[in-house]
Amino acid sequence: DDDSQEYKLVLLGESSVGKSSLVLRYCKDQFFDSQEPTIGAAFLTQAVQFNDLEIKLQIWDTAGQERYHSLAPMYYKGASAAIVVYDITNPTSFDRAKQWVNELQSNGPPDIVIAFAGNKFDLESRRKVEARDGEAYANNQGLIFMETSAKTGYNVDDIFFKLTTKLPKK
Ligand code: GDP
Ligand code: MG
Repeated sequence: DDDSQEYKLVLLGESSVGKSSLVLRYCKDQFFDSQEPTIGAAFLTQAVQFNDLEIKLQIWDTAGQERYHSLAPMYYKGASAAIVVYDITNPTSFDRAKQWVNELQSNGPPDIVIAFAGNKFDLESRRKVEARDGEAYANNQGLIFMETSAKTGYNVDDIFFKLTTKLPKK
């Protein structure tokens, strides 16, 4: 309908940080411990009510951008928003996530809204990246920051909603 606005949102980050799991938790309220979740489509569409408007998020989650870096620009082309994900138990994934932010800021769409997600918050006993380090980096770069858990659902709706509130009006 006329009130509906559709935006492309992409997930970026190293393999296994929980990108597919975050999408599955957000769109279907499901989580799988061992099995890698298969989304089974190029993207999922999720409706969000915000300020009397229905916003549609077209959520892209593919594995190709991790392994075939040359595909990445095609993947984030036309995106209004990105969630760059790392795993709080994996410092390498934190470095990789910063590289993705860098790439989005230099080559991505100019007005892209970026959220930085430290996922697997439930694995506190195995934490190797401090929340304050994620937060300091995100604040410095002007990104939304939250730690999340696709497993428990912690901050999952919140990070998608916070992104929605920052989208430019169409
Ligand atoms: P992707 O490669 O980034 O899409 O990561 P996946 O969503 O496939 O997740 C990789 C693995 O991490 C799977 O075994 C998931 O069950 C697990 N996983 C994802 N998110 C979480 C989380 O928040 N907490 C825990 N404990 N495990 C998670
Ligand atoms: Mg995946």
